[in-house]
Amino acid sequence: MESQLLSQLSNASLLQCSAFIDGQWCDSAQGKTFSVLNPATEQVIAQVANLGASDTEQAIKAAKLAQVSWRQKSAKDRAHVLEYWYDLVIENTDDLALIMSTENGKSLQESMGEVAYSASFIKWFAEEAKRVYGDVVPLAQTDKRGIIIKQPVGVVAAITPWNFPSAMITRKVAPALAVGCAVVLKPAAETPLSALALAYLAQQAGLPAGLFNVVTGDDANAIGGVLTSHPDVKKLTFTGSTPVGKLLMNQCSATVKRTSMELGGNAPLIIFDDADLDLVVPGIVNAKFRNSGQTCISANRILVQEGIYTQFIERLQRTVSAFKFGVFSDQDTTHGPMITKQAKTNLHAKVKKAVAQGATLLCGGQLSDDPGYFYPATVLTDLTSDMDIFKEEIFGPVAAVYQFSDQTQAVAMANDTEFGLAAYFYTENMRRSWQVSEALEYGMVGVNETAIGAEMIPFGGVKESGQGREGSKYGLDDYLEIKYVCHGNIS
Ligand code: NAP
Repeated sequence: MESQLLSQLSNASLLQCSAFIDGQWCDSAQGKTFSVLNPATEQVIAQVANLGASDTEQAIKAAKLAQVSWRQKSAKDRAHVLEYWYDLVIENTDDLALIMSTENGKSLQESMGEVAYSASFIKWFAEEAKRVYGDVVPLAQTDKRGIIIKQPVGVVAAITPWNFPSAMITRKVAPALAVGCAVVLKPAAETPLSALALAYLAQQAGLPAGLFNVVTGDDANAIGGVLTSHPDVKKLTFTGSTPVGKLLMNQCSATVKRTSMELGGNAPLIIFDDADLDLVVPGIVNAKFRNSGQTCISANRILVQEGIYTQFIERLQRTVSAFKFGVFSDQDTTHGPMITKQAKTNLHAKVKKAVAQGATLLCGGQLSDDPGYFYPATVLTDLTSDMDIFKEEIFGPVAAVYQFSDQTQAVAMANDTEFGLAAYFYTENMRRSWQVSEALEYGMVGVNETAIGAEMIPFGGVKESGQGREGSKYGLDDYLEIKYVCHGNIS
């Protein structure tokens, strides 16, 4: 229960179980709560305020009011607050990682990495927002001047997933706040504690009340319904699955809200015959098994050229057999559980269906009765592109391996999906490297590299993987309106 996690924290104030609206920690209007579980033990960690539609309306009201004076401040003044927030996140890394590992299950090392990644967006956007430049446009008439300025969109609704409980929040909230917007956030019901800890630190950093509201709850339809229909919300930024993203885009259409969408993926990872396997294997450990395979840029389809196939499979099997799935507090744990029982059941069903359709199960694929939503590292081979698993996001520690014969076939297989988030390939051939990078229909491509995330790069997808980019100098654009001002009669 709460007390167990509390006793482990150096800064007990980071464990907040109330929602955060207008600078106040508050319970739901009906006093309802929902349980947050540790997926590695299935034990309840906390009871968190379970808000609904009317609470969400309150949060939007507070955000609208707070934004009026926040947008008037200079970018430099706003940056000061964000810089202090960044410092506090870094100072509290150990506790934030503990909270994250407890509610998400990922290893402490991964959580520490995520806290640093999460903090990096706060610092980056504090800096970038000072460089939101406009333009002066030469017009056809000499007595007119065209001026282009950029202004905050207003109140932003943000909806985020559980797989990166902190970074998916700061990647949205930091740019929004930095340019003068206010935010109402609905974090995933599985991982609200990381979100609330971030809000607590923002408050400590001096962020004025009402600018960052966290509406916790397990009724996503009710909260999301208000966020996507309320006329005072001017933009929705969403990270999550493609079906939910499509639903929310539909809901936003009635009030013509701007939307940005970071959605699902079906990343190919292509290994050409000339690849350096010493690079490939650690690359796959990262791209396929980080967060136990529960990442949107996870290598979903591993495409291996015939000449290197046998050697690769041997190396992969040896590597995954050394993984240790367990609770994050065990020293030797390398990988955590699936997020929910349902996620584990769904994953097992995908593996069983692939085997029924002709796949070979090289290792893993067995469920255990031990507590926790663990799924073993699994390798499936003899897969073909007509099997269901080729089209689905696996979202778990299951490596799906396919064979190809030449570059043309590899690129065709890689692009044969409605998704277009991340793709990777390994080759030592420079010409091929250019050709394949340009041919892949993806928003991000890793060449001989799978650790592609960073605050300074534009993260995002094409096709049904989304719209808009987060991070980088482009990451502010989604929170800014462009206004054209024509000055006439000046000759
Ligand atoms: P999800 O089911 O789409 O949920 C994501 C968020 O949407 C959660 O906060 C969820 O709330 C909320 N939600 C669900 N239904 C809703 C509704 N009807 N109205 C309003 N909100 C609703 O996705 P997930 O399973 O948590 O996350 C995994 C997916 O996210 C994968 O497809 C992954 O690829 C994608 N993802 C993409 C990126 C990227 O940058 N492109 C990054 C990370 C993850 P509840 O938790 O309360 O249900």
